[in-house]
Amino acid sequence: MSLSKGLYVILIASFLVLVCAYGLQAVQRAQRMARVTRCASNLRALWQTQLQYQAWVCPYGPLSPKRGHEFWHQWKRVHPSANDFDCPLSEEGRRIGLSYRGPCRDANRLKPDDPVGADREGNHGPGQGGNVLLKSGDVREASESDPLWVRARETTMD
Ligand SMILES: [Zn+2]
Repeated sequence: MSLSKGLYVILIASFLVLVCAYGLQAVQRAQRMARVTRCASNLRALWQTQLQYQAWVCPYGPLSPKRGHEFWHQWKRVHPSANDFDCPLSEEGRRIGLSYRGPCRDANRLKPDDPVGADREGNHGPGQGGNVLLKSGDVREASESDPLWVRARETTMD
C-alpha cells in the first residue's frame, strides 16, 4: 500500500467515525427529548387525576391536604396505572418509587401560576433542573438557574 493510499484510508475511516459519533449524539438527544416530553405528560396526568378524584370524592371540596410526594402517592392505591407516573429519566426515582415533589403547603392556597409539583433534584441529571407543574395544569421544563425552578424549590418538597 502506498503512503497516499494509506492516508486516504485513514481519512475515510476518520470521516466515518465522525459521522457515526454525530449520528449517535443526535439519536441520544432525540431519546432524551422524548423522555422529557413523557415526564411532562406524566405530571399533567397526575394533576388531572388529582382534580378528577377530588371532584368525585368531595365535589367543590378542597384538594388533598397531603404534602410532598404523599400528594401523588395516594394514586398508587387508587389508580391502576399510577406506577407509570414516574419520571422516565430518573433511575433512582423509579427504584424508590418517588419521582416527583408535591406541594409543601396547602395546595388550595396556591395561585394558578404557583408550582404544585416538580421533578426531584437530579431526575434529569445532576444540575439539569427538570419539569415543573403549575397549579393551572401547565408544565414547563426549567433549567436549574431558571427562576421557575428556584420557585418550585420553595413551593414543593420530596
Ligand atoms: Zn422528569
